Amino acid sequence: MSSELPPKAQVVIIGGGIIGSSIAYYLTQKGLSDVVVLEQGEIGVQGATSTCLGGLRTQFSTAINISFSLISRQVFQGFKNEFGVDPDFRPYGYLFLTTTREQWAVFENTSRLMTEMKVPLELLTPQEVGQRWPFLRFEDLAGGSYTKDDGFYGSIEVLQAFVKKARQGGAVYLERVRVSDVSISGKRVIGVSTAEGYEIRADVVVNAAGPWAGQVAAFAGLELPIGPLKRHLFFTDIFDEIPDVLPMVLDIDSGWYMKREGRGLILGGPAGEKSFSHHVDFDAKEWTANKSIQRVPALERARIIRGWVGHYELTPDHHAAIGTFPELENFILAAGFSGHGFQHAPAAGLVVAELIVDGQVQTADIHPLRPTRFREGNLIYEPICAFQD
Ligand SMILES: Cc1cc2nc3c(=O)[nH]c(=O)nc-3n(C[C@H](O)[C@H](O)[C@H](O)COP(=O)(O)OP(=O)(O)OC[C@H]3O[C@@H](n4cnc5c(N)ncnc54)[C@H](O)[C@@H]3O)c2cc1C
Repeated sequence: MSSELPPKAQVVIIGGGIIGSSIAYYLTQKGLSDVVVLEQGEIGVQGATSTCLGGLRTQFSTAINISFSLISRQVFQGFKNEFGVDPDFRPYGYLFLTTTREQWAVFENTSRLMTEMKVPLELLTPQEVGQRWPFLRFEDLAGGSYTKDDGFYGSIEVLQAFVKKARQGGAVYLERVRVSDVSISGKRVIGVSTAEGYEIRADVVVNAAGPWAGQVAAFAGLELPIGPLKRHLFFTDIFDEIPDVLPMVLDIDSGWYMKREGRGLILGGPAGEKSFSHHVDFDAKEWTANKSIQRVPALERARIIRGWVGHYELTPDHHAAIGTFPELENFILAAGFSGHGFQHAPAAGLVVAELIVDGQVQTADIHPLRPTRFREGNLIYEPICAFQD
C-alpha cells in the first residue's frame, strides 16, 4: 500500500471513519480534489464507526448539538438524491427515561431550548410512559422525554456512500497506512510520516482519528483529552413479546438502552472503562440482563446470544472538538464526538470543508467546539448521552 503513497497532497486526512470521509466528500464538493485519506486499518472495519448503531436524535441539551443534528438531518433527507443510496431511515423515535428529579430538570431545560429552536419534544409523566409502552416498568420513573421524529439510518450504507462519492470526486483512500508522526515547521504542519517510514507533504492536515485523536495530536506536541470509552452491547435471540416498532429506549441514569434489531433486540451494556480493550466481560452481561429485566420485565424470557464491544471517542464534556490550535494553524481537529459522531458527520464535514476552502465557516457557529476550550477550562457539558462514564 505504501508504494501508492503520493509525495504531496493539498489535504491529508488521518482517519477514514465517518468523520474523515464526510470531510473528504465535502472538500471534493467544494472543488478541492487533491485529498488523501490515510487509514491505519480498513474502511468500516475498526474504529467507532464500525460498531455504530446509526441513530440520529435531536434531543440534546446544547444549541450546538441540536444544530448539528438538524443540519445533518437535512443532508440525510436529501441523501438518496445526492448520493444515489437509500440511507434506510427508520423513524422509530428516541425515549429517554429517568428516575431522578435532577435529571428530570435537565429534560425540562432541554424541552425549553428545543421549543425555542422549534424542534418537537414531548415530556411524559410516568403514567403516560406506561400507557404508550405497556411493556415498560414505569412506577420508579420521574418521567420520560420523547422525540418521535428521531430514528436510525444504515451506518455502513452511509459510510460507504461518503467514501464512494469522495473517491469519485478525486479523493484517494489508502488503507493499512498508519500515521506515526507529524512534521512541523514554525507554526505550520508540513506533512505526516507513516509507520513504514514514508513521508507525505501537505498544506493542511486533518486529525479525524476518532478515539485515537489524542494520540495523533500528541505527534504534533499537542495535549488533547480525547480517548476511547469502552461500550458493551448485547444481542438477544428472536424476541416477539414486545412490538416490532420500538423507540430507542434509554435509561439515562444508568446508560442502559434497548433497540430493535431485526426480530431480536440490542441491549446497551455498561460503559466506563477508558481503554481500547475488546474483551466482553461476564459482569457486563449480568449488569445488562439485570437492567433489562428491571425496565422491561418480559425480558426475563429473552436469551442473550452475543456480545460485543465498541469504543466511543470521548471528550471530558461530551462535545466534539473542531478547529485549530493557535500554535499550529493548518492542523485541523475534527474528533471527540462522544457517541454522536455518526449523526453529526454531515454537519462536521460541511463545516470543516468550509474552514479549509473558504477560511471561515458559514453553516454553523462552531466557536463552542474550539479545541482550546479544554485548556481554557471552558467546557460545555452535554448530559444527554447514551452512556454514563
Ligand atoms: C457502540 C456504539 C454505538 C454508537 N451509536 C451511535 C449512534 O447511534 N449514533 C451516532 O451518532 N453515533 C453513534 N456512535 C458514535 C459514532 O460511532 C462515532 O461518534 C463516530 O463513528 C466517530 O467517527 P470518527 O470517524 O470520528 O471515528 P472512527 O470511526 O473511530 O474513525 C477514526 C479512524 O481513524 C483511524 N486512525 C486512528 N489513528 C490513526 C493513525 N495514526 N493513522 C491512520 N489512521 C488512524 C482509525 O483506524 C479509524 O478508522 C456509537 C459508538 C459506539 C461505540
